[in-house]
This record gives sequence, C-alpha cells and structure tokens, in this order.
Amino acid sequence: MQFNELNLSQELIQAVEELGFTEMTEIQKESIPLLLQGRDVIGRSNTGTGKTAAFGIPAVESITEDDRRFPAVLVLCPTRELAMQAAGEVRKFAKYKRSVRTCAVYGGASMEKQIMELKKGASIVIGTPGRVMDHIRRRTLKLENIRTVILDEADEMLNMGFREDIESILSDIPTERQTVLFSATMPPEILAITEKYQNDPVQIKIKSTQRTAQLIEQFWFETAMGRKTDALKLLLTAYAPASAMVFCNTKKMVDDLTEDLVKAGFRAAGLHGDMKQAQRTQVMNSFKAKNTAILVATDVAARGIDVSGVDAVFNYDLPQDNEYYIHRIGRTGRAGRAGAAYSIISGRKQLYELKAISRYVKADIKELPLPDKSDIIAMKKEGIVRSIAAQEERPSHDAYEILDRLAAEGIDYREAAARLISGKLAEEIAGLPELDVPKPIRKGKRSGAKTVRIDLNIGRNKRIAPNFILGALVDATGMSGQDFGKIDIFDSHTTVEVPEAETDFILDAANPMKINGNPVEVKLFKGDTSGEKSGRGGFSSKNHRSDHRPDRRRSAYGSRKKADVFSDYIPDRRKRSKKRS
Ligand code: ADP
Ligand code: MG
Repeated sequence: MQFNELNLSQELIQAVEELGFTEMTEIQKESIPLLLQGRDVIGRSNTGTGKTAAFGIPAVESITEDDRRFPAVLVLCPTRELAMQAAGEVRKFAKYKRSVRTCAVYGGASMEKQIMELKKGASIVIGTPGRVMDHIRRRTLKLENIRTVILDEADEMLNMGFREDIESILSDIPTERQTVLFSATMPPEILAITEKYQNDPVQIKIKSTQRTAQLIEQFWFETAMGRKTDALKLLLTAYAPASAMVFCNTKKMVDDLTEDLVKAGFRAAGLHGDMKQAQRTQVMNSFKAKNTAILVATDVAARGIDVSGVDAVFNYDLPQDNEYYIHRIGRTGRAGRAGAAYSIISGRKQLYELKAISRYVKADIKELPLPDKSDIIAMKKEGIVRSIAAQEERPSHDAYEILDRLAAEGIDYREAAARLISGKLAEEIAGLPELDVPKPIRKGKRSGAKTVRIDLNIGRNKRIAPNFILGALVDATGMSGQDFGKIDIFDSHTTVEVPEAETDFILDAANPMKINGNPVEVKLFKGDTSGEKSGRGGFSSKNHRSDHRPDRRRSAYGSRKKADVFSDYIPDRRKRSKKRS
C-alpha cells in the first residue's frame, strides 16, 4: 500500500513524496489509517521500521488553522536525541502545511528559548517527559487543547524511570483525546498504562525479527576474560569499518573503552546519558558525517537513532535484554544494505546468553576465530600491494628527484621504497595487541563441582534407557556427555545429576525436548527418591559413558573444528545431522 492511497491532504502527499517515501512500511500500513480515524493504538514494532512517520503523518494531518495558539498534539520521547530527531522529521512532513508549528522541548537546552517558542504558538509539541513536566508546572505548556498524545518508545521511557511523569502528564490531558503508544517490547507496566489511559485501543504487532536476521550477518568471537578490549582492537583493525557502533552496558564502560580506543589511535567517540547535551549532539553529528568512525554507546543513548551506512555493530557487552540485541544490530544493514554484527564473549555464562539470543532472534550466529596479529599483518601487506599496484596517477617529478638524490647518498631505489613501505605498514598495525587463543569454553571436566539433579518426566514405563537420556541432553545443550553425572531411571521419571552452575542453562536448552518421540519436560529435581525404587539400581555414570554412549558423540567437542561448535550447539536437528553426515 502506498502513501498516495491514503486520502491525505495534498500538502502531506507532496511532503512525503519529497522525502522519497512511496511504499508504506508494515507498521505504517496498519496504524496510519486507524490513527487518521482517531482510534487509540498500541503499536509494537522494531526500531528502524518507520514509527515516526506512522504517528507523525496523522499528527500533522490533524492540525487545523485553529490550532495556532495552543498545542493539539503532544509527543513524548525518552531522550533528547529522539525528541530532536522526531521533531526534525515531523517538520519535514509539515513542510507545506503552514499552520503546523512544531516545537521540541528537552532538558539540557535553554528553557527561555523553549518558552519563547511555545509562546509564539506551537501546534505539535515533542519532548522528553521531564522537560514537558517542567513546562506544565510553569504553565508555559497548556494541555487544554491537546487532542492527541503519543508515547514513542514507551518501554524505554519506563526503563528510564519516567513512569510517574508520564502518568501525571496523561492525567492532566483532557480525557476526550486520542492516546497512541509505540513500544518495541510490551512489559506488564506498559499494559497497565494502556489499560488506565487508553480507550479501546487497537493492538498492532509487527514481527520484523526476520528482516534483521536475514540482512545482517551475525558472528561471535570468544576471548579470555579481561581481554575484550584487545579483541575489539584486533577486530576493528582487521575489518577496518568506515562506520561502526560498539555497545556497552554501562556508562563507565563506554568512557573507559572510548579512552582506550582513542589512545590506540582509533577515531572513536563515546555517547551516553551523562554527557552534556552539546557534547552529545557534537558526537552524533561527527558520527553521522563519518568523521568519527567508531561510536561507543549505551543502549539508551543509541536507541532509535537513525544513522545510515553503519557497516558493523559490535557487542562489547552482550545486551541485558534479547530485544536490545535486535535493536543494536538493527543499526546496521539499514535500507536493504548488508551489515554485520559481531559479539565478543568471554566465559561460559556469556556463551549461554548468546545461545539464548540466537534462539530468540531465530538466527544462526556463527563463531569465528579472532584474527591474530599475523593474520592482520598479512591482510595489511596485501592491502598495501593492492593500493600501490592500483595507483593510477603517475608519481610526481619531485618524487623521482627525491629518489635520485637518495641514490646519490647510497640509498638505492629498493632500499628507499622499503623504508617508505615499512613506515606505512608500521603505522597500520601500530599498537596491535597479541592475544593468546582462548581455551574453548565448553571443554574439560568439571569434576568436583557442586551438582544438583534435574528431573525428566519420562521413565521406565516408556522403555527408556540411560543412553537415550544422555544423548538427548547432549543434543539439546551442546554439552559433553562427561558434564552429566548419575542417571536414575524410575517408573515414570528420571533424575540426572548436573553441575549446579549449568542448571539454568540446561533447563533452558532442554525445554522442550523429545526422547524416543515422547515430549519431555525437564525441571529441577526437588523431591526425595528414598522411597522409590530406581529401575536398575541407578546407572553409574562411568558405565554408560564409555559403553552406552552412541559412538558419534564420542568426539563431539574434542576434535571438531572450533567454528563448528556453535552451529552444532543450536538445537536445530536438521541442520546438525546434515553437518555430521
Ligand atoms: P523507528 O522509529 O521505527 O525506529 P524511524 O521512524 O526512525 O524508525 O524511521 C527509520 C528510517 O526509515 C528513517 O530514516 C525514515 O525516514 C525512514 N522511513 C520511514 N518510513 C519510510 C517509508 N515508508 N519509506 C522509506 N523510508 C522510510
Ligand atoms: Mg522511533
């Protein structure tokens, strides 16, 4: 469906056309017609799917000549950047509609200027909840005429602690109004707000994980604890992205990492919520203009920011929420371009988290070995050969003259060229860290580790044998047979000893699971088996490990190439069996 099928005013059609929009995105198709009718809407869709236009176009369309004095539309956004960005886009929609005045109000900017603008008359006000509250208290923002209120990135606003402000603002706005909410996730707090403040809302949910998963190649690298910064430097040097974003989970990490990268000569800058507004704007502009190649940011600071042409996203820290992973990697591969996302992990826990993410996004995240210093030197050598060989313009007369003078001093051409190239090469690989190949996380015995038992609701009555149980667990978790201990089969259930540290992971990975065609549920075992009789007196794990374990598993994680481990490890049977054959 196209914008010109929408029955919009000529002014809007023209503005939208000039922006190069023709086909509507999914969320726009679903929500714009409803919003134009005045319905309340809950819109759920990933970042980069055009939500600003989804609410901005109907908002601009709704403004009339009578709205010159008092605001008719209020948009709340979580951050100053998002408020500025949304205001910028709404102004573009309103280009030919003179009656629309858009005013952005956010903290960290002059209050007086905003008051002046509001006084001059604003029909659409876009702001952060805190500053909007400020203006309401000062009576510089009047809510009497508001007909539409829009909560953009509602989940993020709640995460940032704006709940009270939002509720207070919503209760101040006349109840005869349209209430619109956009959010990437739908936690219970959001549902509470919609129930309280919306009137018979239509829910729209757009699934777009697929889109990201298909366009963006995703990889992971493993490094030893404490060596992530070195690993990142190697990756940035090896891939040399012209524009990349690096995500960290804390503001401090953003600061520290940025400092490290800058010291190592990378054109990097940090972005997080504690920075002054002017500084943040400067960093964003420099990144957009590609003067800053690497933007190190927190999720909140980078949320929803629309920069095109980001070649790669690096997860220095894995995100705390699966949905954030999608948001992060959605910064690359925009507008149909190819993109790549790289996650750096250390330690078993992060490997499990990554596995959970991979299942959530339904994408194959492939493991790659970290490039080592010699790989990078080889790449750079190749690069220098290519660039000199491809040079088209003839060297200047002066260059030859310099070579001749050097020759007169006994430095022949070969030596002179070698000195120049050597300098260039040294510059390109300056400060490259050396990394040991980390020990694979999933190898080795965990003897002596504390164990607990898990409980499977399948037992002797289904003619089950220990090697079936073990095989299924190994298959589902990607762990080695040696990670599992004693297996006790009872009439209708089975307990298996597992390392306590892996319990959550195992429960997560093994549910749901099938053994011999029977669906099986796996839980933590809390019961007592003293009264029960275990079928065959309990199988000593030693026995079935060496004698009953299916052959094909014997070398599961020992000799196979490293890069295979993770794809094996995703419980997708078809993929695995194909690989094995
Ligand atoms: P979201 O709020 O969902 O993260 P944005 O509103 O920031 O997404 O839009 C992302 C980008 O897509 C912006 O650059 C916007 O101009 C562009 N865009 C939005 N809708 C369309 C469309 N129908 N056709 C082409 N580009 C669009
Ligand atoms: Mg947005």
